[in-house]
Amino acid sequence: MPLASPIPRPAMIDPFGRHVSYLRVSVTDRCDFRCVYCMSEHMTFLPKPELLSLEELDRMCSAFIAKGVKKLRITGGEPLVRKNILSLLVALGRHLKSGALEELTLTTNGSQLEKYAVDLARLGVKRINVSLDTLDIDKFRKITRWGDLAKVQAGIKAAQAAGLHVKLNTVALKNVNEDEYDDMIRYAHGAGMDLTLIETMPLGEIEGDRTDQYLPLSVVRARMLDHWTLEDIPYRTGGPARYVRVKETGGRIGFITPLTHNFCESCNRVRITCTGQLYMCLGQEDMADLRAPLRASKDDALLSAAIDEAIGRKPKGHDFVIERRNAKPAVARHMSVTGG
Ligand code: SAM
Repeated sequence: MPLASPIPRPAMIDPFGRHVSYLRVSVTDRCDFRCVYCMSEHMTFLPKPELLSLEELDRMCSAFIAKGVKKLRITGGEPLVRKNILSLLVALGRHLKSGALEELTLTTNGSQLEKYAVDLARLGVKRINVSLDTLDIDKFRKITRWGDLAKVQAGIKAAQAAGLHVKLNTVALKNVNEDEYDDMIRYAHGAGMDLTLIETMPLGEIEGDRTDQYLPLSVVRARMLDHWTLEDIPYRTGGPARYVRVKETGGRIGFITPLTHNFCESCNRVRITCTGQLYMCLGQEDMADLRAPLRASKDDALLSAAIDEAIGRKPKGHDFVIERRNAKPAVARHMSVTGG
């Protein structure tokens, strides 16, 4: 007798008709760096019992995959400082094997890549994003408050040697790295990596004034035209970046412009924190607690209903503004909590 085909599960469609197919999961709020625009120097991290266990994270991700998530990004905090993180990747690998999940990716600061690159590749990760804001050793230490640039660059090499495609993510910071983009283009493209520039977003309290850091990418792009020929290309990776090809290098530059050009109309993403809070928008306070329904029963019926309810109130978009009159962050939580 032929086997009955599985009952199709309803896809997650939000009130604006957008299909949610991309989940970002923050597996820890801790990080071994303290990037000045991301965290304050003396962060209070969550007590460990608050965190979802790795088994709970697997169950959570699997529930979303059952609802049509095709792309899963593991982030943080720094995901590679979460103890036994590889066991989560091993578990999630079954969804890659079954074909339910198309891509398992990771965003990392690169500090642990020398140690983990080979395992990541073995476990089915094909692409990773490495955050790198400068190629200057001293500046790197200042931005991260104590990071070691050489270690990150060695990690990037290890990742490429293991066969991982590496993309560099650089936050555009006024008076900090704005003189470096030409060098970063040469470094990234010279090593076969795409480079994505990101506008700094008003997320969480930090020591400095964000107005001093904010550099619109429209300005950066206009300045690049003095040295490079940029051609708009339709290339997309499922995220919010718009890409150009640099004629002189043949490489790609992505621009993520949450402030100068809001890209919410095509948003296909939601984010889960390491405590199981679902944020339907990076730039809004509304969230749904999924830890309670997850822990309330062994089957996923309650969890599944809570996810559907939350997707039903995914907002149209965010409304970031960075200006001196309005010095408060758009949302109180840091990027390290929601997951970048
Ligand atoms: N630790 C990992 C890393 O460094 O990539 C993953 C988490 S980190 C929060 C993810 C990304 O968010 C990094 O590229 C970081 O530069 C970026 N980020 C953090 N705070 C930001 C902010 N306020 N505005 C824009 N990007 C931010």
